[in-house]
Amino acid sequence: MTNKILVMNSGSSSIKYQLVEMPSEKILVKGMVDAIGTDHSSFSLVNDKNKLKESLLFSNHEEGLKYIINSLLKYHVISDYCEIDGCGHRVAHGGENFNQSVLISDDVEREIDQLGILAPMHNPMNLLGYQILKDILPNAKHVAVFDTSFHQTISKDFYTYPISYHYYTEDHIRKYGFHGTSCKYITLKVNETLGYEASRRLIICHLGNGASITAVRDGKSIDTSMGLTPLGGIAMGTRCGNIDPSIIEYISQLKHKSVTEVLAELNYQSGLLGLSENSYDMRILCESMHTGNKKAKLAIDVYIKRIVDYIGSYYMHLGGLDTLVFTAGIGENSFEIRKMVVDRLKGAVNIDIDEDKNKKCSKEVENISSSHSTINVCVIKTNEEMMIAKDTYRLIC
Ligand code: ADP
Repeated sequence: MTNKILVMNSGSSSIKYQLVEMPSEKILVKGMVDAIGTDHSSFSLVNDKNKLKESLLFSNHEEGLKYIINSLLKYHVISDYCEIDGCGHRVAHGGENFNQSVLISDDVEREIDQLGILAPMHNPMNLLGYQILKDILPNAKHVAVFDTSFHQTISKDFYTYPISYHYYTEDHIRKYGFHGTSCKYITLKVNETLGYEASRRLIICHLGNGASITAVRDGKSIDTSMGLTPLGGIAMGTRCGNIDPSIIEYISQLKHKSVTEVLAELNYQSGLLGLSENSYDMRILCESMHTGNKKAKLAIDVYIKRIVDYIGSYYMHLGGLDTLVFTAGIGENSFEIRKMVVDRLKGAVNIDIDEDKNKKCSKEVENISSSHSTINVCVIKTNEEMMIAKDTYRLIC
């Protein structure tokens, strides 16, 4: 029996969607609402008959979601919402309770809501998708696929913070990690396309607006850069990543701001945006850097430095490296960022890329390493949506 599964993947500034026929994994339609809340937001839809991109103002996620669902009828992808059997929702934070995907019940909805305190830019958006779509799709069963699940294999000495232990035992404060659905997809893809040996020691650079670095050994996550929340780790589009924790109180006292206000700044106005004082968008920053903008250059330099810190550390913990992967918006599209990262690694390890391949790569999986390199460097288009479709299909059947 075939099923139509709608996948909703709400990020901090975008909503990606796919309608997938299972078990054939045929993508009936896909697209996204991008740059939500900016003056260059857009909607795209791609299927056999259409390939369109519209510039439309979406001021929030709710507008984007409703536009997507209306478009399925408008562009005759389906003729009735009854045709959709399942809906898979990416959920950023599953805490310690969710080490795998689940059917959404009232209890699950409540727990996701409570975990919102740990992922304020994501869990509320993920839940909003469920709350809107459960009323619109009469036949669909809804499944939550958590971004934290893949990292549940991280060992205790790696996920424990060096703070009073009762914060872990009583309050569950520990590293959880995110982008797990993407990392799982990439890990399987490397194994499938490059073979088992190439996938044994893997470092995945998931560089979107949210960004993380993950170390994978024999298919299992052993460490990842994000922590209790998606604020930790490397510098991101608008998030600061790891900083000295005392900075929070220092700014709070100096600028007469509450801790909540300071944290909002660290989540929404820091990272690339904060340093450049211009944009979180890497396309704009690279352009500005080339026209001599010093703040854009500093933002990019800090960004690269912090990525290299993690790669170096994970190289040691893995005891070497077989494949370095770049994925997500920046990782898949910015040849300049890939080159800057690899150039910094070159002095220490035998890694090298073919400049031509790096510039031209467009396939789903592209090995851009040069013939001198003993480490594979790959650009892989992540497909969190397909992982979500597979889990949803498994749970609704
Ligand atoms: P998220 O899912 O976290 O919202 P994405 O994975 O969609 O993020 O990545 C969005 C980011 O990708 C944006 O900051 C954008 O600048 C960057 N990006 C997309 N295309 C390019 C490109 N050609 N060059 C550099 N950066 C790009």
